Amino acid sequence: ASETSQWQRPGPRSAELFERASRVTPGGVNSPVRAFAGVGGTPAFIERAKGAYIYDVDGNEYVDYVGSFGPMILGHAHPDVIDAVQKQAAKGLSFGAPTGLETELAELVCSMVDSIESVRMVNSGTEASMTALRLARGYTGRKKILKFKGNYHGHVDALLVDAGSGALTLGIPGSPGVPQAVVEDTLSATYNDLDSVVQAFDTHGDDIACVMVEPVAGNMNCVPPTEGFLDGLRELCDQHGALLIFDEVMTGFRVHPGCAQAYYGVKPDVTALGKIVGGGMPVGAVGGSAEIMETLAPTGPVYQAGTLSGHPLGMAAGIATLSRVKGGAVHDAIAPQLDKLLAGLDERAAKHGVPFMTQRVGAMFGMFFTDAKQVSRFDDVAACDTEAFSRFFHEMLDHGVYLAPSAFEAAFISQAHDDVAIARTLDAADAAFAALSR
Ligand code: PLP
Repeated sequence: ASETSQWQRPGPRSAELFERASRVTPGGVNSPVRAFAGVGGTPAFIERAKGAYIYDVDGNEYVDYVGSFGPMILGHAHPDVIDAVQKQAAKGLSFGAPTGLETELAELVCSMVDSIESVRMVNSGTEASMTALRLARGYTGRKKILKFKGNYHGHVDALLVDAGSGALTLGIPGSPGVPQAVVEDTLSATYNDLDSVVQAFDTHGDDIACVMVEPVAGNMNCVPPTEGFLDGLRELCDQHGALLIFDEVMTGFRVHPGCAQAYYGVKPDVTALGKIVGGGMPVGAVGGSAEIMETLAPTGPVYQAGTLSGHPLGMAAGIATLSRVKGGAVHDAIAPQLDKLLAGLDERAAKHGVPFMTQRVGAMFGMFFTDAKQVSRFDDVAACDTEAFSRFFHEMLDHGVYLAPSAFEAAFISQAHDDVAIARTLDAADAAFAALSR
């Protein structure tokens, strides 16, 4: 909170740390969205977190709906996860040789996700989608890839494409430093518009190695697939011999214990995982049928490797987390809490006359400042009132609720969000919507 800011939070210690950080780190952060650039102001620097709450360095407590951008479905610092990591750490941090932990987590993933028979551990979601892409190209011997505008797959060169408007555009690099040649084979279509995909296949048919999609789009707020969209992708890929890749880095184990593919009943060829699979540690994974996965080195020719891949601490946290998610009890506990939260938000927005709606799948949700009844395409998301979101964000922060600092991020709830946390959130929202209506 600078002197000119109308907001009380985060506070002077966060401001001081941000200033220091900005001197030695680009923008003061190690991942851009953390900088609050989308909402203005100074980011909260976090000291610790427990259950549904995070605490900043100024001693403020917040009900947290970021959950480390997804992993914390059990709540922060779950005792079993912390215990597993501490016990493993005492045995040494990493070995550069296989451990039984990697197999244990792989077996858990294979048992939970129908389409996965074999899985390779990596260190992040970005690595998972990068590997999935290389695998699809290596397996099919084709070059072109199709992604969707507004879907994010990590900072992989070939996937950093902002296609601009139009049903189908050849890739234009979305960032300086990504040469045109690298995105030449990246096609971009419109999420929830099967016609745009048909058009891509009509034009580039036999050259398309894969279609890569976030089965629930979680990087343009929270946008579920419309009826028939994922089925349609499956059919088109089958018709044309392309692989269907689900990027379930965000949706994996969050929308359903069997991932979005179980929730929607559509089986991809390859799945990219991250976030929950590592229980809050830097872990990603790529999985699919044994036949496809064997294309990877050392069984196959497609190279992929990692000094710290399958890291024991990440595996320990992942095992502790997934084994609790597996039976469905976590999702069963979350569903009624999210019902209460979203109904309460709708009610308070209506009370104060603020145009607002929510969308959800499983344990992820989105808040939209709009008159629309449904948001299903990128352009719908872009048309929402981002200024209203920014004010709402700061009002909520001031009233002790931590939301992602961007109108384009999904929100995450955990099993630790009990009635007290929900009530506190709704009290904050009442004040925030009231402020917005003034
Ligand atoms: N894919 C999706 C769907 C994501 O949401 C993200 C990150 O938010 C990534 C990939 C990249 O993962 P990471 O940030 O772990 O590299």
